[in-house]
Amino acid sequence: MADVLLSKVRKNYNPAILKDTLRNINLDIKDGDFIVFVGPSGCGKSTLLRMIAGLEDITDGDLVINGTRMNDVPPSKRNIGMVFQSYALYPHMSVFDNMAFGLKLQHMDKKEILERVVKAADILGLEAFLERKPKALSGGQRQRVAIGRCIVQQPSVFLFDEPLSNLDAALRVKMRLEISKLHQDLNATIIYVTHDQVEAMTLADKICVLSPLKANAESNLEQFGAPLELYNHPVNLFVAGFIGSPKMNFLKGEILSIDEKSSVVKLITGERITACVDASRASVGDKVILGVRPENLVKVDSAEATGGKVTGKVIVTENLGAEFYVYMESGASEIGSDFTVKSESELAVTAGDEFTVGIPASACHLFDEAGIAFPRTEVYKRS
Ligand code: ADP
Ligand code: MG
Repeated sequence: MADVLLSKVRKNYNPAILKDTLRNINLDIKDGDFIVFVGPSGCGKSTLLRMIAGLEDITDGDLVINGTRMNDVPPSKRNIGMVFQSYALYPHMSVFDNMAFGLKLQHMDKKEILERVVKAADILGLEAFLERKPKALSGGQRQRVAIGRCIVQQPSVFLFDEPLSNLDAALRVKMRLEISKLHQDLNATIIYVTHDQVEAMTLADKICVLSPLKANAESNLEQFGAPLELYNHPVNLFVAGFIGSPKMNFLKGEILSIDEKSSVVKLITGERITACVDASRASVGDKVILGVRPENLVKVDSAEATGGKVTGKVIVTENLGAEFYVYMESGASEIGSDFTVKSESELAVTAGDEFTVGIPASACHLFDEAGIAFPRTEVYKRS
C-alpha cells in the first residue's frame, strides 16, 4: 500500500504557448485514503491522474510514492492500477482471460494467476461469469471486470477516471456502494475522478477541488479537505458554488456593520441579513457576496429565520415527492442565476408569485470581493 505525495506539480502540454493546464498542485495522500478529484470539464483531472500513472510527463514538481521520487519511473514499474470510463475489454476473451491477460504477459505462474483471478472475482461477485464473453454481460458487470483486471495486479494505488459515468442512474448507485466496499476490502489507496456530487461526498475521505487554471493564478487546486469541511467551510466562491447540489445561492451586497461573531450585510435590493462570520479583516462599506444553501432556507415566520429574509419572484416550482424546489429571481443575485429554495414539504407557491424566505444567520457564508471566504463562526444545523 502507499502514500502519494505531489509537490508543486505543474503540467504544460505546449510550452510554446506558455499555457499551463495544472499549476502548483500539492497533495499529501496517506496510505489507504480514498481521494476524489472534482472540477469542471477540462480543468485537468485526467491529466493529473495520468501523471501519477506515468502516462503523461510531469513538467515540474515531484511525485513521491512511499518516499521514492517517481517522476522518471516508467508506468509499468510504478505499481499503479488504472480504471477508465470506457472499460475496453477484449471482446473475444472470456471474463477470466480478460482479467488474467496482464498477468500472463508478465509470465506469472498459472497457479498464482488462477488464485488472483478467483479472489478478484470473489470480491467483485463475478464468480458465475468467468466463462462468459463481455457481450453477455451488463454494463455494470463489464465495469467490474475492468476493475478486476486492475485488482489482480495488486497495485499499491488505484486510479479511477470517471468509472461509472457510462452507467445508468440505478446502476451507478449500486456500483458506488460496491466501490465503497471494495475500498474497505482492499484497504488500498484510491484516487477517483468523478463529476457526480453524491459519489464525491459519500466515497471520499478527502476531496480535491480543481478549477480551470486562470492565466495569473498561483494554482488551480482550490481546496483539499474532508467532504463536510468543503461543504461547511468552502474557502472561496468557486468551491462554495461547486460543492453542493443544488448550488449555493449568491447574493450581492455590502457590509453594514462588523462584530466579532457576526456581520450585517445590506443586499443591493435593500434587505439586511445578519451572517455568523468573522469579517474583522474587512471594512464597513466593502462589497461582498452572501452565500446561502437552498436546503438551509426556512419559512420566513419561523424562529430559525434569525439572519433575515429574501424576497423574489417565483419562476418555476418542482415537486419531486420527497423534495420541493422553488426557483426564484432575486434582484440581488448575479445576473442570470436563480435563487433556489429546497424544502422537504410542498410550499404553497406557483410561478409568478412573490415569495419570501427566511435565512438562519448561522447558515450564511460570506465572501469578499476577491471571492475569499470569511471564517464562519457558527454552522447551521436544522432543528
Ligand atoms: P478533465 O479530465 O478535468 O476534463 P483533462 O485533464 O482531460 O481535463 O484536460 C485538461 C486540459 O488539458 C484540457 O484543456 C485539454 O484540452 C488539455 N489536454 C488534455 N490532453 C492533452 C494533450 N494530450 N495535449 C494537449 N492538451 C491536452
Ligand atoms: Mg477527464
